[in-house]
Amino acid sequence: MADLAHAGVAELGRLLEQRQVSAVELAQLMLSRIEKHRDLNAFLDVRPEVTLAQAKAADERRARGETGALLGVPIAHKDIFVTRDWASTASSKILGGYMSPFDATVVDNLARAGMVCLGKLNCDEFAMGSSNENSAYGNVLNPWDKGAVPGGSSGGSSAAVAARLAPVATATDTGGSIREPAAFSGITGTKPTYGRPSRWGMIAFASSLDTAGLMTRSAEDCALVFNEMLGFDAKDSTSLDAPREDFTRHLNDPLDGLKIGVPREFFGEGLQPDVERAVRAALAEYEKLGARLVDISLPNAELGIPVYYVVAPAECSSNLARFDGVRYGHRAARYDDLIDMMKRSRSEGFGPEPKRRILIGTYVLSHGYYDAYFIKAMQVRRLIADDFARAFRQCDVIASPVTTSVAFGFGEKTTDPVAMYLADLYTVPGSLAGVPSMSVPCGFGGKGRPVGLQLMADHLQEARLLGVAHRYQQATDWHRRLPEGF
Ligand code: GLN
Repeated sequence: MADLAHAGVAELGRLLEQRQVSAVELAQLMLSRIEKHRDLNAFLDVRPEVTLAQAKAADERRARGETGALLGVPIAHKDIFVTRDWASTASSKILGGYMSPFDATVVDNLARAGMVCLGKLNCDEFAMGSSNENSAYGNVLNPWDKGAVPGGSSGGSSAAVAARLAPVATATDTGGSIREPAAFSGITGTKPTYGRPSRWGMIAFASSLDTAGLMTRSAEDCALVFNEMLGFDAKDSTSLDAPREDFTRHLNDPLDGLKIGVPREFFGEGLQPDVERAVRAALAEYEKLGARLVDISLPNAELGIPVYYVVAPAECSSNLARFDGVRYGHRAARYDDLIDMMKRSRSEGFGPEPKRRILIGTYVLSHGYYDAYFIKAMQVRRLIADDFARAFRQCDVIASPVTTSVAFGFGEKTTDPVAMYLADLYTVPGSLAGVPSMSVPCGFGGKGRPVGLQLMADHLQEARLLGVAHRYQQATDWHRRLPEGF
């Protein structure tokens, strides 16, 4: 059974189809691995009886003759998606033990396809962070090096997939939270076009940026799961009414003549030599596969971090207003009156990072500062999106590093929020533009820690993007490397 733990989604689907393994056996195997590697702290809520009931139902569907690439394949969900059968906390004390009356659309879509949920995954509180050190429920360890962070905010998702505790995990990306942890954990992380996955039931952080996506071993696995996960949802007012499509259809397209834009601003000061070396080697591999590198410029990308840290806090200050001790989650035990109850509930329930952002957000939205900060940030956001539009007239995909360095150690950046924010230097611009983007394992840097290659494509071009990544993964084996002890 050991090898089964290392199989990806595509392979597990085939094995289930051929009755070489049952969904129940797979779920048991994964649950035992989750138990064995509890020290990683990747999971926040595991309920074997619910998982096994779902697995049994999947086996029954197969027994009745139903088929489907995902029927019976295990998955785990980032604790930003609400679930009826597992607690939904956003890794915050303010939602400790909260049971949602419904499932998020993403969770529901995948359950309908027969995927078996293994439980909920640790993350930064309300998805705010780059190292998973902001979770109210403790740090997640990086399976490649337990002294390193797994990245954030989807650190539980990336660690679980890297450690083979699940073949696939959902994640969310607002400014980099899929790509950065995927890079730090040596797995494939994909953020689709903003609006393509439903936000219904995704606990809101910054609504104009929040995008659900996946952590997988490979681009092919991601394409298979996207087929069931993405689609229009009338319950989400920003859902894109794009036609359903088969995300596997470009997997085997040749790369001859593909134009890969290499933005010079993403190879400048701050980029560590070990990361640059691995990324340049990946670009050379692409040239061998027939692609052509084109020098491009994203001149406003360097404004991404300041723009993001106005827009995201502004939106979160509004979204987090709903946690007031009245409707959801934690309510202070002692208080004088209504205002005091709200104040105490929020003071006790939120951790330091959400508090910092609520303060910044409230400030930039306040009378007198709104034009100077918020409106200005929105204007620059437009310039950044225009940079991408211009670049995609010169090239088919954009390639860059995901991060400036490999995974850092615990505590290295926690005392300096700005240093932490800079972990997303290369991922934030794509988020502000809303384009699909992914991190693909492309080697190892200092201390044997993984390096990720970022690939970005124009809006709605995720099928092509996944194909470009798949070709690379056929030619290399970085995505198949396994951390020692797993
Ligand atoms: N690290 C960024 C932040 O702290 C991005 C987080 C995310 O994408 N959810 O906001």
